[in-house]
Amino acid sequence: MEKTRDQIKEEKAALRKLKAASKKESRDQARGLLEEKGTPKSCEYCSINEEALYEVWGPFYGGKRGKRLEPDHKDNDYKNNGIEHLCSACSLCNCAKSNKLTHQEMIEVGSSIKRKWQKRAAIAYAHYRSKAST
Ligand SMILES: [Zn+2]
Repeated sequence: MEKTRDQIKEEKAALRKLKAASKKESRDQARGLLEEKGTPKSCEYCSINEEALYEVWGPFYGGKRGKRLEPDHKDNDYKNNGIEHLCSACSLCNCAKSNKLTHQEMIEVGSSIKRKWQKRAAIAYAHYRSKAST
């Protein structure tokens, strides 16, 4: 018997859910491995640290992301949780890299992102200092 449009839609939604759960499981495992290893709490690409991340860029995706550094799979294979394939990345770099840029390409992009956040942090700091002195 042929499947109805609704059945096909439901099957596709179920598959998407499974894939998302599998990705989340892999991400949680990767995060645990990085913490175990004692990886520095800064982005591999732009060097922003976890404390400055939210202050400089604010929330991502309605606050679902942006508060913590994220595990990044250097080879863009989210199932590859070998510690040598993992690093920490900020939300901005992780979004920019997606699964399209290579680790090396993202290091180049990251140096540009680094200049942007440092500039914003300096402006915010200057603003804070001028308020504090008045
Ligand atoms: Zn970054």
